[in-house]
Amino acid sequence: MKVRYRNLSVKDPILKAELMDAVSRVLDHGYLLLGPELDELERAVAKACNRKFAVGVSSGSEALAISMRALGIGPGDEVITTAFSWIATANSIAVIGATPVFVDITENYLIDPDLIEAAITPNTKAILPVQYTGQICDMDKIQSIAQKHGLFVIEDGAQAYGATQNGKVCGSFGVASCFSANPMKVFNAYGEAGLITMDDEKLYEQAKILRYAGTVNKTDCIVPALNGRMDTLQAAMMLVSLKRIPQKIENRRRIAEHYRERLSAVVSCPVELPGNNHIYYAYSILAEKRDELQKFLADKGIETQILHPVPMPHQTAYSKDGKISVPVAERVAASILALPNQEDMTDEEINYVCDCVLEFYA
Ligand SMILES: *Cc1c(COP(=O)(O)O)cnc(C)c1O
Repeated sequence: MKVRYRNLSVKDPILKAELMDAVSRVLDHGYLLLGPELDELERAVAKACNRKFAVGVSSGSEALAISMRALGIGPGDEVITTAFSWIATANSIAVIGATPVFVDITENYLIDPDLIEAAITPNTKAILPVQYTGQICDMDKIQSIAQKHGLFVIEDGAQAYGATQNGKVCGSFGVASCFSANPMKVFNAYGEAGLITMDDEKLYEQAKILRYAGTVNKTDCIVPALNGRMDTLQAAMMLVSLKRIPQKIENRRRIAEHYRERLSAVVSCPVELPGNNHIYYAYSILAEKRDELQKFLADKGIETQILHPVPMPHQTAYSKDGKISVPVAERVAASILALPNQEDMTDEEINYVCDCVLEFYA
């Protein structure tokens, strides 16, 4: 048997037909950029996230960079974020000229809120928590620290669309929330795309300016900015994806439950924190002899991924002045392994993965 980590080909004929219809409608009306489907998507996402506004952009990275620039964050400013995420999180801070300040995580892969205050300096402007693997950080604690010190909270929800905490949905926390809809993500486009949600109208207007060459309605450029628009074709296909998210999350949670039941005796399975509804963008375990396990599974036809092998502050770009110590992130990076958990996995495939992991440790 072969089990792919992700197989992005569209196998469901009904989904494929809906996508083709969506594409066909856009090709017929011809508004390929900032077209009506983008407006519709923005309205739908704002509503789903309990926000006044959403702005579609060209990627999750752009969503983060545009949000921070729209808040006036730039050179000389520091933004506190987690040590453990996809590198786009740190890069979005660095490319706007600000400095990422990395804080270690806890064993559940999320930023450790108890370490945030010690990282605050007079230059700190914002805290950027990442809802990593699809679970929401301790937002009550993070918001109260931010409030106390007068900092913005910008949520990196790239992996967590649809996740909730005490009834509040990802995309509703902080002054702005950012999503990626690249094809790997649970809320996916069929190419690059991203979204920002917010309540503040000025921030909304500023984000729209920054995604469109810094112009107000294409006439006057008021700030230098690149092109970060989402194309209408992606928006149209995302409207099709959007309807399927509840079912996808349900399937992923079922896969997670299945893995937890069968594997928690031999590996450390992800823990769902109280009040949280984890969407399992990744089902990341901590495994002894991780590299050997990964090779053993590969020989059995099972693809896994190490998300992520190097903590962000230890990447070359961020360790030029020496490596800061992030002991938990380092320990996690050395034993983390994401098992296949695409929502259309069959029970047979899930059991096969479990059998092989158990065989390895036996
Ligand atoms: C995917 C991802 C991003 C970047 O999104 P892109 O659309 O690939 O630019 C940012 N942060 C996190 C946590 C991500 O997983």
